[in-house]
Amino acid sequence: MSRADDRPAPGHAELNLLSDCGSCFGLCCVALPFAASSDFAVDKEAGRPCRNLRADFRCGIHGELRERGFSGCTVFDCFGAGQKVSQVTFDGQDWRRAPGTARQMFDVFPVMRQLHELLWYLAEALALPDARPVHPALRAALETTERLTRGTPDELLALDVPAHRDEVNALLLRASERVRAAVPGRKKDRRGADLFGARLKGAALRGASLRGACLIAADLRGADLRTADLIGADLRDADLSGADLTGGFFLTQAQLNAARGDAATRLPAGLTRPAHW
Ligand code: SF4
Repeated sequence: MSRADDRPAPGHAELNLLSDCGSCFGLCCVALPFAASSDFAVDKEAGRPCRNLRADFRCGIHGELRERGFSGCTVFDCFGAGQKVSQVTFDGQDWRRAPGTARQMFDVFPVMRQLHELLWYLAEALALPDARPVHPALRAALETTERLTRGTPDELLALDVPAHRDEVNALLLRASERVRAAVPGRKKDRRGADLFGARLKGAALRGASLRGACLIAADLRGADLRTADLIGADLRDADLSGADLTGGFFLTQAQLNAARGDAATRLPAGLTRPAHW
């Protein structure tokens, strides 16, 4: 094992992956399109500021988003892409004072968000001891991805993000297999499964792969989800009351915020119990 492999995993804060809305020009509230739904009360096209966005780039209804029909805003996480685009890529020049940059800034934001999301997972995989054999490749991918985030707007827009995602995802999959292999017993593989509204109360899903599974409104009360891979699983309105997610990995706070749960739900380290549970 090389010396480099013994370096501690970089934290999400160290990599600036924690969103800091105070340093962002409200990009998620302008750049992204939304269709009126139970998650977002009105139609909004990409590039048009949300009607609730204030002049100081803060949300005018931040404290009452759920009550006002904007619950989708409470479960969105840019992984720090907003402040990176605002303060690094565009050097602190906001789209109101420099409207000529607006279109490009809004186009760069979703690219940066994808890169930051990959950095988030790579950093998490580097902190998984059972994935140690994959750590050198993960670290190289993290360094490459970090370098890509520091490109110019033109360079960022020219990136083949899907190809880069595929490369990183292959590594994350290898890390996941290592971690799950260390769990005793048979592990379920429900990758990409359609489990919409599934009755999984008390299900034995320890060490399972639920990568990209649709678990919308699934009943996961009391389920054993220890050391389960939950990357990209859609947990909107899933009921995690009393479920055990200890050691679950590639689960983000945004996924958790979109689910339901209670005081008995056991969470993976680093995630916090949503205020609405
Ligand atoms: S409701 Fe608030 S948080 Fe949601 S998009 Fe509009 S300004 Fe942003």
